Amino acid sequence: MPNIVVIGAGVTGLTTALLLARRDGHNVTVVAKHMPGDYDIEYTSPWAGANVLPMAEASNDRWERRSWPELKRLAEEVPESGIHIQRSVVLRRNKDLALHGTAGRRLPDPLFAAKPWYADMFDDYRELRPDELPEAADSGSAWTCVCINTALYLPYLVGQCRKAGVVFRRASLKHVSEARGMSHTGAPRADVVVNASGLLACRLGGVMDAKVQPARGQIVLVRNEIAPMMTISGTDDAEDELFYLMQRASGGGTIIGGTYAVGNWDPNPDPNIANRILERALKIHPALKGKTVKDLDVVRHGVGLRPYREGGLRLEREKIDGTWVVHNYGHAGWGYQGSYGCAEGAVEIVDDILVNELSRVSSKLH
Ligand code: FAD
Repeated sequence: MPNIVVIGAGVTGLTTALLLARRDGHNVTVVAKHMPGDYDIEYTSPWAGANVLPMAEASNDRWERRSWPELKRLAEEVPESGIHIQRSVVLRRNKDLALHGTAGRRLPDPLFAAKPWYADMFDDYRELRPDELPEAADSGSAWTCVCINTALYLPYLVGQCRKAGVVFRRASLKHVSEARGMSHTGAPRADVVVNASGLLACRLGGVMDAKVQPARGQIVLVRNEIAPMMTISGTDDAEDELFYLMQRASGGGTIIGGTYAVGNWDPNPDPNIANRILERALKIHPALKGKTVKDLDVVRHGVGLRPYREGGLRLEREKIDGTWVVHNYGHAGWGYQGSYGCAEGAVEIVDDILVNELSRVSSKLH
């Protein structure tokens, strides 16, 4: 029976471990420095909203396209997952569209395309009529989407993993090769190690990926229940300041963001940025018309560091010190919305290694 050790208990590691453990006969161990329940600047997943705002280029839509059906199914059929259905509104300003794609812009342009590839992914995607647009926007679109309450969804994933036989261990690894001796089965050497270390892939020995750096995201969580979810193509405050808002499932409050500051490691919420985040929400979201900052009941201010990677995701195999390692990191701002697609991609690579490199028989998903 193959022994697989997954480094990381963020959304990437947990989803990959789950899909691996659902294959007959796989012994899966997750080793992580941070686990669901922790709030730490080195651990991105708890800080996300999270929702599904497709960011890939049309030529690279596999990860998000393959993830959507499962996230939708969870929202519709599995209330304990902490995912619920929410209407999503994406707004565009002509002045931002003119700038998109120009040097120095890091925002995910494909989200704001007028005829995006993802229009056919959602059942009811449509362009908004001019009379439906808030003052701040020149055009926009809407569809039925989901919002993930990450405070509930991450523990849900742990539960699903446990049910499928995954064993969790706490450890902070200095080198990726330490993982191969950490299978809960006591096997001296795991067959495959999956590296889902997120942002810390830039510090993990044996990986030290210099292309990985943080894309700092500051948010405010408020108790107010505000719908629909909304985002807009740009703001007038700063190039790395954004507006998005999403109401989390099951009393999780509403997340208001945000920022996308590449290279910024600052773990502390900046009060001036927080104030601008709230002011933008009041200005843009129609449900907040006539309200002031005092009407927004703050639960907490937060900062999360998205695992940005120059050139994008790293999903590939590498032999390190004689052990096969499957890398699955560098998801920047789309780790949840691409989680099932990427986990499926990682499982395909693990399978190929087991069958073709190690001559082990693999079995089908059940
Ligand atoms: P992480 O969650 O950081 O997990 C990494 C894991 O690896 C941790 O368990 C860590 O302890 C472990 N690890 C690392 N190094 C070691 C080591 N040396 N030894 C042992 N363990 C180690 N995504 C969306 O899809 N939709 C959204 O709406 C969205 N909104 C976001 C909003 C904000 C403000 C932020 C910050 C992010 C948002 N994201 C969103 C992005 C998403 O949160 C990330 O892409 C995702 O969480 C990355 O998950 P991960 O598992 O790869 O990394």
